[in-house]
Amino acid sequence: MLLPPPPPPSSLLLAPGGSAGPGGRAAGPELEDEAGLREPQDEEEEERGRVRAMAQRGQPRAAEGSSKPGGPASSSSSSSSSASEAEAAAASAAREEPEAAEAAAACPRWGAQHAGARELAELYSPGKRLQEWISVILCFSLMSFNFYKLLFCLKLEHAFSIIIGIFAGVITADFVSGLVHWGADTWGSVDLPIVGKAFIRPFREHHIDPTAITRHDFIETNGDNCMLAVVPLANMAYKLVSLAPEALHQTCPWECYVFALAVFATLTNQIHKWSHTYFGLPRWVVFLQDWHIILPRKHHRIHHVSPHETYFCITTGWLNYPLEKIRFWRFLENIIQGVTGEKPRADDMKWAQKIK
Ligand SMILES: [Zn+2]
Ligand SMILES: [Zn+2]
Repeated sequence: MLLPPPPPPSSLLLAPGGSAGPGGRAAGPELEDEAGLREPQDEEEEERGRVRAMAQRGQPRAAEGSSKPGGPASSSSSSSSSASEAEAAAASAAREEPEAAEAAAACPRWGAQHAGARELAELYSPGKRLQEWISVILCFSLMSFNFYKLLFCLKLEHAFSIIIGIFAGVITADFVSGLVHWGADTWGSVDLPIVGKAFIRPFREHHIDPTAITRHDFIETNGDNCMLAVVPLANMAYKLVSLAPEALHQTCPWECYVFALAVFATLTNQIHKWSHTYFGLPRWVVFLQDWHIILPRKHHRIHHVSPHETYFCITTGWLNYPLEKIRFWRFLENIIQGVTGEKPRADDMKWAQKIK
């Protein structure tokens, strides 16, 4: 399902430092390329730098922080071929402008060395890690059990409704991913008790250090989504063991819907991580991205334009264009701002502007 490119997000007018300027909710399409691709290019460069550093362990990584974005963003196929050019450009930039390189390293606009990103990364606690481990184990155990049980309730005569159920489950997962992502990006604060550090922190970190996710292991990447899926999966497991066979055959398309929703919701952040990974992805993952069955890399770049106000769906991304077209997120934000007086993304901006 390949969707056409969106109209430019309404606030691509960027102030220095990548944040929205005052009255920045209107920009011409000519800004889209420049603003839309600047940060992700940096991201691709950083990923290249990281891979180079791993390959040349022992050599200084000075050039990495000073690499400059070049032409239009390269696709996955051209990434590796242009890596050596980027490497050469970065090295020569560091040689020619050592002071600028040093200044950029001392006060980066974003990335792992950004002051806010470092502070947020340090808030990842052992208690949070334990919660993630428990969630992953419970979630994947329930998922395997339910899958095994579901195989026995499938009937050929329900094939059509089962396919519809699975498709609807995937669409719902994409919508839920957008709703949760939008909620955490737009509202609340890292200072909120419990949820702030545990659940809002990763969203703030992701905007100022988008490649951090590529350094997270499986548990950190998927723990929170697994936690969200545990309750519906446990409820489903209970039904699958307690219902009579006839009742199970009747409810099978619905259970397939719930199962597809749970599986795709669980995998959302893994899919999101792949959308930020430019090297070493399995071919089947690249195939799924290229055919827009899961979130493609270029598609997700549209979200990573400060102030991060559109394209929140990160499972398949299928709903991003239609939701942007009807200005769905803006509509919700206007209602909430009208009722509460809270400004959207105020906390996100605060972290982005942190310099020490
Ligand atoms: Zn975001
Ligand atoms: Zn992202």
